[in-house]
Amino acid sequence: MAPPKIYKNYINGEWVDSVSHESFENLNPTNREKLIGLFPHSTPEDVNRAVEAAREAQKSWRLLPAPKRGEILYRAARQLLERKEEFSEQMTAEMGKVLAETRGDVQEAIDMTFYMAGEGRRQFGQTTPSELVNKFAMTVRSPLGVCGMITPWNFPMAIPSWKIMPALICGNTVVIKPAQDTPLSTYNLVSALEEAGVPRGVVNLVCGFGREVGGQLIGHPSVRAVSFTGSTEVGRAVSQGCAPTFKRVCLEMGGKNAMVVMEDANLELALDGAVWGGFGTTGQRCTATSRIAVHKDIYRQFSEILSERARALHVGDGMDASVQMGPLINENQLKTVDGYVEIGKGEGAKLLTGGHRLTGGDYDKGSFYAPTIFGDCDPKMRIIQEEIFGPVVSLIPVNNFEHALEVANDVVYGLSSAIYTRDVNRAFQAMRDLETGIVYVNAPTIGAETHLPFGGIKQTGNGHREAAVTALDFYSEWKTLYIDYSDRLQRAQIDNQ
Ligand code: NAD
Repeated sequence: MAPPKIYKNYINGEWVDSVSHESFENLNPTNREKLIGLFPHSTPEDVNRAVEAAREAQKSWRLLPAPKRGEILYRAARQLLERKEEFSEQMTAEMGKVLAETRGDVQEAIDMTFYMAGEGRRQFGQTTPSELVNKFAMTVRSPLGVCGMITPWNFPMAIPSWKIMPALICGNTVVIKPAQDTPLSTYNLVSALEEAGVPRGVVNLVCGFGREVGGQLIGHPSVRAVSFTGSTEVGRAVSQGCAPTFKRVCLEMGGKNAMVVMEDANLELALDGAVWGGFGTTGQRCTATSRIAVHKDIYRQFSEILSERARALHVGDGMDASVQMGPLINENQLKTVDGYVEIGKGEGAKLLTGGHRLTGGDYDKGSFYAPTIFGDCDPKMRIIQEEIFGPVVSLIPVNNFEHALEVANDVVYGLSSAIYTRDVNRAFQAMRDLETGIVYVNAPTIGAETHLPFGGIKQTGNGHREAAVTALDFYSEWKTLYIDYSDRLQRAQIDNQ
């Protein structure tokens, strides 16, 4: 048997081992006997070295004109494009989602990198008249310094790109800690940046575990901002950890996204959306469609057809083109999902299909779960209120439009929502009244594009937005500049009265 591939951290432009000289395994969730490779089990000392490298590198990186920084990003995007297939296959191996979806994940990183490269020639500020004569006023964006990033496993290349690319184009340097289940895809992203010629110390990768590596990043006095994507529980700890040093912190956390299907909806379209939104990425998306409020007039028909469609999904190895749904990321996640199914049954929800681990043959080597649908749910049930993060969709019959919106809004999360209707008035009311950062009309709750703001309200986020031009607001400070060319002292609010 070939020896396992050994991967390293990337600190100050070099691939280096952790000071611990220990490693952890990255396993294939489709077949846990397959080892993707060994990754450094990093320590706080590794983080310190990475932060110091980033702090030093920022001194010259911030002075490189933004269009020049953009040229490096353009080269990185082309690198990613060239290696898209290889990176997608490696992502399916480490994460489990089907190849069509990992291609989408890599494509999202490509899109984000091209988009932010373009921002190198924009980053517009304002010019505005001064209230005083012969005085000029304007604003410019100014970088923050070293940015720490902590990312989850479900979009292991796209999410790191949402953070790294806007940070770099604004003149910041980066230390990123990817999720321990999927470090290879972030490694590949960082390799593409290295190939593109990013100067030493500008991007640093430190692999390892949450508290040990993430905790050190959060607490480090030289880190000016932290961008975190993950669970609401860990996000709260990250926020608290950033508070003593007043770090800027961007939190993208859990979701419990609802789809509303009205009686006038195009039923076929809504069913297609429910299957894709509910079972795409094995339900492991922050924007997954996990609750569906269905009008009572079409409820029975909708629930029957959706259950049939879920039962017919081909679950298996994501490398096989005929497979529609891959495994869960690991055994822990499978236990969480199974635990929620038990909770749902205990609460009196009606199990329409699934509700069990898939076993036998190749299934025994991985973490596979049957696509699961609960019917006749009450909006107060825990399976309706709490994030499950697996292939479980719960249906709630609703009486009318107002009831549907009330149900959709009745959770602590606020990331994404969807409504299927052909009534333009209802569509606009829903766009206004659904309490989420993203609303889809006649499309499922998943499908964000990189040039539009991404983020949630309530306990999903803390007011920032990733992607689009809005990402620049997190990664830069506004600096206000006054230039007086009158050659005399002019006092604002006093001399011009
Ligand atoms: P998680 O919160 O367990 O871990 C996320 C990251 O935080 C990992 O890198 C982990 O190592 C690190 N971490 C864990 N404990 C830490 C600590 N004490 N200090 C610092 N870092 C720590 O989440 P996960 O299981 O990797 O991902 C699933 C969650 O992510 C779901 O809740 C999902 O909704 C959420 N998510 C949200 C978005 C979004 O944009 N809103 C996108 C994707 C995933």
